[in-house]
Amino acid sequence: MARITNWKRESRTPTLVYRNTETGARAVLHRAPGSYRYKWRGAILVDGYPVWSRGYETKDAKSFRDELRERPAPELSCPECRNSEVAIGGKTAGGAKVQRWFECQSCGYEASSRIVYGAER
Ligand SMILES: [Zn+2]
Repeated sequence: MARITNWKRESRTPTLVYRNTETGARAVLHRAPGSYRYKWRGAILVDGYPVWSRGYETKDAKSFRDELRERPAPELSCPECRNSEVAIGGKTAGGAKVQRWFECQSCGYEASSRIVYGAER
């Protein structure tokens, strides 16, 4: 199986887990909570903040790896000032879902994540 630039697999079952060797980001493909439309959920998390997420009907490791291949170094930076010193927080958004918050330590920009991402497994 071809390696993916900067992504190292840490676990295969039941949750597929990769760690990014450049940025420390985590990528997980796991069984979704019952409330989700799809049975499986893939996500890329930077300090717990979801920068990418999508649902899958099955444990589709191949398409998940294709997404990782396109994202060799996922990072977080402020959309306003491009500063990368950001603080991440989380608030419960009902059930197992958590809405992440993003706060820039340089300009004060604050926003909730567009992706509401639930429990990881
Ligand atoms: Zn900023």
